Amino acid sequence: MGAERMMRQQLFTVQESGHEFVRRLRSWFVTAARDLPWRRTRDPYGIWVAEVMLQQTQARTVVGYWERWMHDLPSVRHLASASPERVLKLWEGLGYYSRARNLKLAAQVICDRWGGEFPEDLKDLRELPGVGRYTAGAISSIAFGKPAPIVDGNVARVLARYFGIHEDIRKRSTTEWLWSAAQVLVDEAFRQGFERPVACSPKRTVTGDFNEALMELGAVLCTAANPSCGACPVQSGCFAFANDSTSVLPKVSPRPKTVALRNAALLLEFGGRVLVHQRPDRGINGGFWEFPQVPAPGRTPLTARRVHRLFHLEGSYDLARVASIRHSITRHRILLEVFKGLGRGDEVLGDVPGRWLDERELESIALTSAHRRIAKRLRFETAEGISIETGSCR
Ligand code: SF4
Repeated sequence: MGAERMMRQQLFTVQESGHEFVRRLRSWFVTAARDLPWRRTRDPYGIWVAEVMLQQTQARTVVGYWERWMHDLPSVRHLASASPERVLKLWEGLGYYSRARNLKLAAQVICDRWGGEFPEDLKDLRELPGVGRYTAGAISSIAFGKPAPIVDGNVARVLARYFGIHEDIRKRSTTEWLWSAAQVLVDEAFRQGFERPVACSPKRTVTGDFNEALMELGAVLCTAANPSCGACPVQSGCFAFANDSTSVLPKVSPRPKTVALRNAALLLEFGGRVLVHQRPDRGINGGFWEFPQVPAPGRTPLTARRVHRLFHLEGSYDLARVASIRHSITRHRILLEVFKGLGRGDEVLGDVPGRWLDERELESIALTSAHRRIAKRLRFETAEGISIETGSCR
């Protein structure tokens, strides 16, 4: 049987076994749901912020970020009128900073076009900047109780294992199948209606609970490695469990190879202050601040003389390497070699003027994650200049 025909057939299986799958999953979620702060609200704004933060970041990390964000920007109107600096500062450390910029843009659209009220329609939600199929489905089902499906990595893994999907889950046709299956299941949840509320959160929607239960199963039991099938509420109908194939499902094509890069960062200090630059608004880490940095290709160890040349420094700065930081941006693995020197207080490196900031000011701006790690290791001792704990860190 061809792969597409097989998947069509499997969609019938989803329809046939959906009732029991949904019933078991919902009843498990009543007591198993983790008590997460965004689960205690049906405010679409809070749910939206949480869902965007949760993309690529674990729930336990997101808790602190979400609480700080909701404290500082408690409504869509607060977000729409907040300065970009404040928004980026609240997002600092979560990465994927275009998401924070899109949140603010979308908040402005909601205020301008919708009078500050969230649209409920999936199509209208998807027209908001940065709101894709997943986020629209999450807001629509969790906040408004609509039978809108969601598929993220956790959901894809659970469905591929449970229904025995052997096609690559990154393939377009498989992705479409997963969305169709998720739609069948959330429709079934909607039909089953309300049973009893989740322990941690009384004011919930049936469709939101089902979608969250599906994601929760993938996050806590049906994990990528060593799934806890013994504790799984849907084990009795699971293809992968019955066929001992949890280690081969889901099938996932390998990601593109990583690319190794090296940059040199310059820590110039003058009178108890250090020089920082703001990145352009567009592009990676747009709008964030960082210590001046330039690409330093090659494998030979970086010397002070080469760093002088790379930054087009005139005169002697007595540069010394003080730290090496490894970090990643998408598929790039970057080694950041940090050199320190004594500035004059009037340097302009590159095309943009920098700012000389003291310890307190440095704390208040939005720094990229790697550069925040450098800043955390700085010691501001005005009499002897600024020092940095030497060494490397990952
Ligand atoms: S039985 Fe195991 S593989 Fe199947 S859904 Fe449950 S945790 Fe996942």
